Amino acid sequence: MSSTLTIFALMDCNNFYASCERAFNPGLRKRPIVVLSNNDGCVIARSHEAKALGIPMGAPAFKFQPLFKERGVAVFSSNFALYGDMSRRVMDTAARFTPDMEIYSIDEAFLRLDRMHGRPLDLARKIRSTILQWTGIPVSIGIGPTKTLAKVANREAKKNPEHGGTFSLVDYPDQDRILAGIEIEDIWGIGRQYGKKLRDFGIGNALQFSRLDKDWVRKRMTVNGMHTLLELQGVLCIPLDQTVATPKSIVCSRTFAKAVTDKDKLAELISGYAARTGERLRGQGCVAGQLQVFVLTDRFRLDKPQYSNAATVSLAIPSSHTPDLIRAARTALEQIFKPGFEYRKAGVMVFGIEKEQGRRLRLFEPPTQERARYKAVMEAMDRINARWGAMTMRVAAEGAEKRWVMRQAHLSPRYTTDWKELPRAGH
Ligand SMILES: [Mg+2]
Repeated sequence: MSSTLTIFALMDCNNFYASCERAFNPGLRKRPIVVLSNNDGCVIARSHEAKALGIPMGAPAFKFQPLFKERGVAVFSSNFALYGDMSRRVMDTAARFTPDMEIYSIDEAFLRLDRMHGRPLDLARKIRSTILQWTGIPVSIGIGPTKTLAKVANREAKKNPEHGGTFSLVDYPDQDRILAGIEIEDIWGIGRQYGKKLRDFGIGNALQFSRLDKDWVRKRMTVNGMHTLLELQGVLCIPLDQTVATPKSIVCSRTFAKAVTDKDKLAELISGYAARTGERLRGQGCVAGQLQVFVLTDRFRLDKPQYSNAATVSLAIPSSHTPDLIRAARTALEQIFKPGFEYRKAGVMVFGIEKEQGRRLRLFEPPTQERARYKAVMEAMDRINARWGAMTMRVAAEGAEKRWVMRQAHLSPRYTTDWKELPRAGH
């Protein structure tokens, strides 16, 4: 039996958006942070300290402004390009430990630990500390014999700081106590509606649910509910899903070796990132509907004025065509560039991604013949770059200054160099 035991870990970033902002500004350590929705309407993310102040999720910003001011709350507009970039870093770091991984959301992933050497809890601690050190993002890791129990373990890891961010239900002597502490709605796969129904039957927590009869559950909650029940009992029903779906977003960003103050230089760099996202879109046979640009100053230079911002542009027609993406990127940069700052990092994110084949044509699209010609040019460019090295052939807006080309050529594909220089976080 034990030789076939599957061990899942659920890794979940703590207060992800707030943690991203904090990772770029160590001055925010211990300060309450909130992140606002698009056009700054309401609170969509809170740091631990902001939760402790009683700021609810969805709080309208205008109503809470006096509290923000009085309690020194750091308020941020959402910067999804930055969060997407940080998410990729966290996931890339986790993937170094095991290829058996399912990225479940922007800040969550399931990993299988049973095919790795070492005690699962030790592995989880190692993964956690590596991610914190390399990205500055704190994560919690829960371990269990099923995905549903890994989720339960993750809640426990988050809830009790004495666990140090990792907790395992495998061989845990008092699983009942842990299950009894999980509200029925908080079980993975149950949700509000079924939670309410189950409460009517007097079932209010995961322990009570786990003792229900299989057929009773299947009758009222379909086969999915039954799987949740069995998984809480330790029977694997929901395997790791590693199918590669159409990506939700693609990010290309870099930390500059030297700060950039000049707008034209920045525009040139950003055009290069737009071109890279175009290559990656074409490589997957996809087109994107929106493009976002973000810029940041150096978060470690607290003596210098800090600025970060992001702007999103919708493409007239979903595209992977490099000149379209560059044009959109330059328009977005125009909206957020402020002179007088030393920019240290910038990036481009595309989203609204769909497969090019089978896409429904919109009104006012260029005639088919012209699109075919665009496509042929892009394909030729990708082929030449693949054969002779990235950036051999470029669209003029990317700039031709060798110095920048070389800097990029020496970056490792996985990590930008600055992360190795990141000071140890977490103390
Ligand atoms: Mg999270």
